[in-house]
Amino acid sequence: MKLRALVVGLAAAALTLTACGQSGSPGGAGEPVVSSAPEANVQVAGSTTFQNISQRGRVIIGVKDDQPGLGFKDATTNQFSGFDIEIARLVAAKLGYGPDKIDYKVVPSAAREDTISRGEVDYYVGTYTINDNRKQRVSFAGPYFVAGQGLLVAKNNTDITGKDKLTGKKVCSVTGSTPIQRVRDQKLTDQIVEFQTYTQCVDQLISGQVDAVTTDDAILKGYASQQPDKLKVVGDTFSTEPYGIGMNKDDSALRGKVNDILQAAYTDGTWQKIYDNTLGKSGAAGSPPPLQRY
Ligand code: GLU
Repeated sequence: MKLRALVVGLAAAALTLTACGQSGSPGGAGEPVVSSAPEANVQVAGSTTFQNISQRGRVIIGVKDDQPGLGFKDATTNQFSGFDIEIARLVAAKLGYGPDKIDYKVVPSAAREDTISRGEVDYYVGTYTINDNRKQRVSFAGPYFVAGQGLLVAKNNTDITGKDKLTGKKVCSVTGSTPIQRVRDQKLTDQIVEFQTYTQCVDQLISGQVDAVTTDDAILKGYASQQPDKLKVVGDTFSTEPYGIGMNKDDSALRGKVNDILQAAYTDGTWQKIYDNTLGKSGAAGSPPPLQRY
């Protein structure tokens, strides 16, 4: 009798988990920000990526899972949420695939070009700065957001107030990211600590092993808002980081289609809705940047 009750209980728990994983709601609670109902009869003529998606019947999207407010996976519900995730879902829906037809693949900054060019993801949405260097190996739709490099320090830190105060300080960032390259290029410090994820850097900051974490302000604000009693973002931003949707370098048909999807979302208010319910929750106003079609 006891065992049977346990089995029934476990089955119910499993059902709940499955339902959560597919509901597509942002922030781990509540309703989806925008409709993720799949569009019918979509064609993207000449796109090999779209052909692969159609054959598979599922979309594989590269994301981050440890950046709160942007691309975040709740460890309890296994649910993804954030601005990047909503953009990823919007694109999938407009390509004809609802949230239950999406497979997320977590790809760290340093592995993005390799993963995309090998075709292991159909597209990538994860704080991915568009630049000429990366354009040699992948292509980008967008930008769909513009961030800027900033600094995260311990709440009680008083000596780091901007990028010019980093000399001799231990500064942590992520391998293969534009911010770590900028710290090197501008020789902001010679004590650079490098990890695969920003979460590792934030852990080091909290335990006092490093003095600052540097990357896009949008990412840093997410960590600061999770632990406001321990962390703060300081100083002015010191770069421009236009976020693009990364994809196969030669798939100009898909790039054009995704740009059309973004443009429509800018015009009909969908982008604004997504922003207001994710990154904009902290109060900062935002508007979509002009697309750079190429
Ligand atoms: N946007 C920057 C980049 O693409 C930093 C954030 C990240 O590493 O994803 O390198």
